[in-house]
Amino acid sequence: MNCPCCSGKSYEECCKLFHTGEKYAPTAEALMRSRFSAFAIPNGEYLMETTLPGKRKLHNKEDLQEWGEINQWTKLEIVQTPDLNHVEFKAYYTDEDGKPQLHHELSLFEKLNERWYYVSGEFLD
Ligand SMILES: [Zn+2]
Repeated sequence: MNCPCCSGKSYEECCKLFHTGEKYAPTAEALMRSRFSAFAIPNGEYLMETTLPGKRKLHNKEDLQEWGEINQWTKLEIVQTPDLNHVEFKAYYTDEDGKPQLHHELSLFEKLNERWYYVSGEFLD
């Protein structure tokens, strides 16, 4: 199958390597892409694992899993990566009522012990 992150690669050659822990995402953008794919699959555990340990209490694995499940994740667009730690993206999905939705966010990532983590996001628009 094509990778849900819209890289044009197959899932096996793309985000699956990160989801299975075979590799760590080498950049904030790669982590962002793998997290979008983790919503599409969905894989709540991966979403939790890639959240900065100090921020995990703000999230819940079951909620992340459910959010992934109830929506249809249609497209990811990386708008820009203004620096090493930030990724601006647009995530397109169809909600449970069949309405198309756009989530536009500037996310902050942090590298800790050679691994990238999601810290927080600022919603845009
Ligand atoms: Zn991918």
